[in-house]
Amino acid sequence: MENKENQGNPGCENKESINFIQSIIDKDKENNKYGGRVHLRFPPEPNGYLHIGHAKSICLNFGLAEKNGGLCNLRFDDTNPSKEDIEFIESIVRDVRWLGFDWEDRLYYASDYFERMYQDALTLVRKGKAYVCDLNPDEIREYRGTFTKPGIESPYRNRSVDESLSLFQRMRDGDFEDGSRVLRAKIDMSSPNLNMRDPVLYRILKKTHHRTKDQWCIYPMYDYAHPLEDYYEGITHSVCTLEFEDHRPLYDWILTNLYSSGLPQQIEFARLNLTNTVMSKRKLRFLVEEGYVNGWDDPRLPTISGLRRRGYTARAIRNFCDRIGVAKTNSIVDIRFLEHCISEDLNQSAQRIMAVLNPLKLIIDNYPENLTEELEGENNPEDSNAGTRKIPFSRVLYIEKEDFQEVPPNKYFRLAPEREVRLKNAYIIQCKEFVKDENTGEIKEVHCTYDPETKSGQPGAKRKVKGTLHWVSASHALTAEVRLYNHLLLDDTVEQQAEEENNDFIGKFNTKSLEILKGCLVESTLKNAPVGNHYQFIRKGYFCVDPDSNKGRLIFNQIVSLRDSWEKIEKLNQDNSR
Ligand code: ATP
Ligand code: MG
Repeated sequence: MENKENQGNPGCENKESINFIQSIIDKDKENNKYGGRVHLRFPPEPNGYLHIGHAKSICLNFGLAEKNGGLCNLRFDDTNPSKEDIEFIESIVRDVRWLGFDWEDRLYYASDYFERMYQDALTLVRKGKAYVCDLNPDEIREYRGTFTKPGIESPYRNRSVDESLSLFQRMRDGDFEDGSRVLRAKIDMSSPNLNMRDPVLYRILKKTHHRTKDQWCIYPMYDYAHPLEDYYEGITHSVCTLEFEDHRPLYDWILTNLYSSGLPQQIEFARLNLTNTVMSKRKLRFLVEEGYVNGWDDPRLPTISGLRRRGYTARAIRNFCDRIGVAKTNSIVDIRFLEHCISEDLNQSAQRIMAVLNPLKLIIDNYPENLTEELEGENNPEDSNAGTRKIPFSRVLYIEKEDFQEVPPNKYFRLAPEREVRLKNAYIIQCKEFVKDENTGEIKEVHCTYDPETKSGQPGAKRKVKGTLHWVSASHALTAEVRLYNHLLLDDTVEQQAEEENNDFIGKFNTKSLEILKGCLVESTLKNAPVGNHYQFIRKGYFCVDPDSNKGRLIFNQIVSLRDSWEKIEKLNQDNSR
């Protein structure tokens, strides 16, 4: 079950965790267990796009290899032809590379081992360790028993080796229908571990495989294939998630019944669970196929492709994976911690610009009508090498609607009748008048005067006012579309159960997870902003140029707002512990 204790406090897993797999590796090195070799693998099944949980596994496996002077393979665990696809293979290769990891020439496919696996299965049959069983899937399930009820042996369990060999050959030849026979390991039907009750090793599946085409009509089960894949590749430490803990005895059984030395060992760690989102590939697929989101790279999804499109950097994701650490018990990480990691990263690197998302016209009545001044703006106060840029200033500007209030509430330091504010990088202005739509009550425009003595960077600029607003010049600004995002799921319950078949989570789908603003105005600096570039829209948040911009429009994705809710949580935690 999930342990909620660590929620909102990923830092606390950290110290112990880095060590627990590393210390196994250290011990093995000390004992010269694999001749000092350290060889890991990342083994995705190409049945969907990778998500942030996979990123944790990628960072862990490639990271451990690097740290120990070892190797890490990329291996496609493509043993189930029914849900797998080339599109997924390509996306996985792209995503692992983008995250910054390199498998050199070690890209492997489980399907390349099908013949060898078949030969190994024959060996098990010859040794009397496997048999062909004619029970159908329902009967097999029934015979297996439960946690409280021991299993019943199959009536085919003791058929002769020769008969099993011949039937297994005929299974391969396509003589039998799907589901009519399987190859099973002969282990122990009364084992307390259900995985050891004569598990199925091979099934008949007359499906075309994306790589081996129609060469095979029997396919190995995951539990049989995986240890062999690891062994064939010389893997030393086979790191996987906790749900495979109960499968470890079977992993070892397969290997020890076939091979005697250099056997890989399986080590389990807790998978990443995040609040407010889904990570099971099946559920992600449902969202994509049912049109809840716009494809696997929809910026609302926690897929690597979605996060990249949203504007996450590989560095921020790696940093997040490092900081949440690796533990042996399941926990849930608050998605706001992921958001905090990208905020921190972009605070250092993103260029600042001004963008008005909900424009309200502001006219400076005492400013010369045909004048344009080039004012200077800092590109990034966090980076002394970032320099400055010229920003055009003129008589007619736009500010945010929310930055003017006819009747300002308490502690509102923005614009209101007779109030003064500073325009960022420009002058102090004072509100003199405003125009209201008589029917709707909506404020149409605001009229101000400016004080020429208060230009930013000039001596007069010392005069202080409480509020500073961002703005754009009406005749210079560019129109842009801005896509604002909210969490995918409304409450923060986790959908960690990949096996859970139902789609109840859809009731929590946040219908306001995407909001599109069409008439936004941005600084002219962004005219040829390249796709993928990051910006801080001053006072608003971090944004990234979306690939759709190529079609002649300027489109931004909101990455995170400037209100860093994680920092608030951290502060609260600290205050509470004082
Ligand atoms: P899902 O459960 O999301 O459908 P999966 O586990 O079936 O994914 P695989 O393609 O088999 O996906 O995963 C490849 C590797 O990534 C495995 O070693 C798996 O343990 C690991 N992995 C998958 N999800 C997570 C996660 N949330 N946290 C950490 N590692 C994960
Ligand atoms: Mg899996």
